Parts: sequence; C-alpha cells; structure tokens
Amino acid sequence: MTSTPSTVSTASAASTAFRSALEVIAQVEPRVAAAIGQELTDQRESLKLIASENYASPAVLLAMGNWFSDKYAEGTPGRRFYAACQNVDTVEELAAEHARALFGAEHAYPQPHSGIDANLVAFWSILAHRVESPALAEAGVKNVDALTTEDWAVLRRSLGDQRMLGMSLDAGGHLTHGFRPNISGKMFEQASYGTDPETGLIDYAALRAQAREFRPLVLVAGYSAYPRLVDFAAMREIADEVGATLMVDMAHFAGLVAGKVLTGDLDPVAHADVVTTTTHKSLRGPRGGMVLCTAEYAPSVDRGCPLVLGGPLPHVMAAKAVAFAEARRPDFADYAQAVVANSRALAEGLLRRGVRLVTGGTDNHLVLADVGAAGLTGRQAEAALLEAGLVTNRNAVPADPNGPWYTSGIRFGTPALTTRGLGEAELTEVGELVADVLTATQAEGESKVRYRLDAAVAQRTRARAAEIVGAHPLYPGVELV
Ligand code: PLP
Repeated sequence: MTSTPSTVSTASAASTAFRSALEVIAQVEPRVAAAIGQELTDQRESLKLIASENYASPAVLLAMGNWFSDKYAEGTPGRRFYAACQNVDTVEELAAEHARALFGAEHAYPQPHSGIDANLVAFWSILAHRVESPALAEAGVKNVDALTTEDWAVLRRSLGDQRMLGMSLDAGGHLTHGFRPNISGKMFEQASYGTDPETGLIDYAALRAQAREFRPLVLVAGYSAYPRLVDFAAMREIADEVGATLMVDMAHFAGLVAGKVLTGDLDPVAHADVVTTTTHKSLRGPRGGMVLCTAEYAPSVDRGCPLVLGGPLPHVMAAKAVAFAEARRPDFADYAQAVVANSRALAEGLLRRGVRLVTGGTDNHLVLADVGAAGLTGRQAEAALLEAGLVTNRNAVPADPNGPWYTSGIRFGTPALTTRGLGEAELTEVGELVADVLTATQAEGESKVRYRLDAAVAQRTRARAAEIVGAHPLYPGVELV
C-alpha cells in the first residue's frame, strides 16, 4: 500500500469516503463509529504476523458498505427466486468472470459467505455429482434436489461408505477436512494423512498406499499450517488411481495461485475437480468464500444456495469482483512473489537465532515454529509475543504433545506485512525480534499458560516493532479526523 502519484488522489477520495461514513454512523450510534475508528488505529499500530489475515484495499472495503446489502437473491444470475436482481446478477457475473480469468477455472461460484461454507457447498456438490453420475443413475438414483429418504439409502449403498481422506490437523490440515467438530466429520468417515516424521513433508508414496487401502470418495488437499509446497499433480494421480474426487482447499494460498507463484504441478486449479477458497487471506479480498470447479461439477456447485447456503451477500460479491480485478493486475504477481520472499526472510531471522522450524523453513507465505523445543507451549509463546507487540497465533505442530488448545507451535505469515510494504531485511529483523522474545520467556513451573518475560526485552521489542510498522503506514492518506 505504498503511496504512488496515481494512488494519492485515490487515498484522499477514500479518506473523504470513510470520514463521511463514520459521520453518518455516529449520528445513530456513536460508539460503533468510535469502535470502527479505533480498529483502524489499532491495526495501524500492530505488527501483524497472522498468516490468515491481510488488509483489503479501500476499493474493496467501500464496495461492501452500500444498498446491495438490502437485496435477497437466492439462486444464480438469471435464475433467481426473487425479483429485481438485475444488478446483483451484474456483480455476481463480474466476480465469477474475474475469478475464472484469474485462476483459469472453467466455473466459479462466488456466493459462499466464508471458507467453511465454500467447503460445505463442495462436499454436497461432490455427493450430488456422484448421485447424478451415469453409474448411479443406473442404480435408480434421481436428481439430488428430489431425493427421498429411500433415495438416500440407495445413494449410501451405491457409494459405499462416504469416505474422506484429508490432511491431519497437527500436520496443518483444517477442521473442515473431515474432523468431528465440523459437519464434514459427520458427513464422512474420515482418515487423515500426516507428514514424514523426519522431514515434516507430505510423503506421497505413503499417501498413495493409504488411499489404496482406504479408498476415499473425496481426497482433500490443502492446509492452514503447512509451510511447504503441495504437488497437486501427484495428488491428482492418487485420486484417479482410487476413483476419488480431488478437492483442494486453497483458502490460505489462493493469493499465491492468483499471483502465479504456484504454477504447473503446484497449481491446484489445473488439477483438482473442485477447489475452494476464502477470499480474505492471501487473496486480499473481502471476508468470504468461493468455489471453483470443472464444468462437470458446475451444475451441482451452483445449487449451493439454497441447498446449504443462505441468501447470497451481494455487497460482498461486489467487493469480491473488485478484489479479483485487483488481483488480475500485474502488481499482484509482484505482491505474491514478495509474500514468499518475505516469508523466507522471516524464517532466516528465526533460524539465525536458533528457533526450531517445522520442515526447517518455508516455501510459501507461512512459517511454523516449534516452541516446545524452547520449553514453552504455543499459548505461552503467543501471549509473550503479544506482550512484546508482535501479533501471532498458536498452532499445533506434528505429533504435538500439548494438543490443539495449548499447542507447541506458533504460526507466522507475511501476507499482511507485505501489503504494508515491508521488505526482506525488515522481515529478517522481525524474525530476530521474535526469537529474542522467545529466548527471554520462561514457563512458570508446570503451567502451560503462565510465563515470565524479561521486561526490558518486552519493552525494547515493542518500541522497535512500533518503529518498523510506523515506517510503513497502513491505508496511507486515510485520515478520519
Ligand atoms: N479452509 C482453510 C484451509 C482455512 O484455513 C480456513 C480458515 O482459517 C477455512 C477453510 C475457513 O474459512 P472461514 O473462516 O472463512 O470459514
């Protein structure tokens, strides 16, 4: 978000727009206006290393605050359950058109309200698609929209057990990939693949053997906390060999796909049947989700609303269209390259000061540190870092002895700081600051929560973190008073 001559006038227009919006809100509930203003101040002052967050542009943010929020538009463009949806059709079609071009996808469905919703649409559409496949039609199963309980019984017998094979949580997978706290864990019998205990990498030979044995209906690739690249061509081969649908959840790394950092075997859209994503992480759009798929899966994906989704959010789809248009510009590819270069630089700073990293480094936008090696839980490290002005989040590491709540890991990501314009030297320094804080932190007795952090280190780190972010203003030119 560095200010260039062409963005100066945009910044001043955005400044006027946000200021006016807050004035209007303050006339009704001043405390909400104050909280919105305070959020900008807090975000500006915070050195944010949360891998799943970013900063959307003023154009994206402003596209959400308008009367599109007032419209109901269940259905798809041209086939709505409500009247007067012509303008919603326009923005939904624009969002889908930009998404198809950006990702090289045959079909895009920009309606899901979040990543979890996108995954739910994908799961149902994969099941529905199977129902409608010729083999199942022979078994007498009808269109999924008209399924009776009896049809479901036929469906279950025809499909065998509905099995899902996804990445384990402690290896970096996501709850929605077949785990109990999410509906996917109730819809599917799940098994998970981990990573090699020595290297921390996905072992494709082991995965192939597991898939042959387990015979999943859906093979899920994608992650929240795996710091390396995934070979989607290899995943495709494995899925084909066992007759599974390949679904990739690229919620975390969609920005790297859009920015052409992940191409060839690393491009999920080129290899998967169905790809889901969030739009607010590395992709830098509004908070939301999306499904991309081959033409074959399009009819079942398009039934997401009202099958499992509530009415679409037209104001958010407008913002998605704006964000995807931004991501199609050449400077987004520069951004995506910089995210990875910054992530490597961050890892370098951590490694230099002796922090243990899962897999020993990174190839993408995130770094996963194993703080258990330093005698801390993730919870203690997260709190100590926050006290020192560094915002991160705790995360399990493979075979984590502290489980998913306390954890033994800290996840770092560079999409947000890269948007602010930080460069590699600064990220290396941030890595060193993190390492200094971890070294100066000690667990209190047997507690997994309480810790002691050297006050001088905390104070010094806070001051330096403030200087670093202060040199890269967030939303430059946007002044609320
Ligand atoms: N899928 C993955 C891989 C994620 O990391 C996340 C969120 O962290 C989601 C899905 C869910 O996204 P949302 O919070 O938008 O529902």
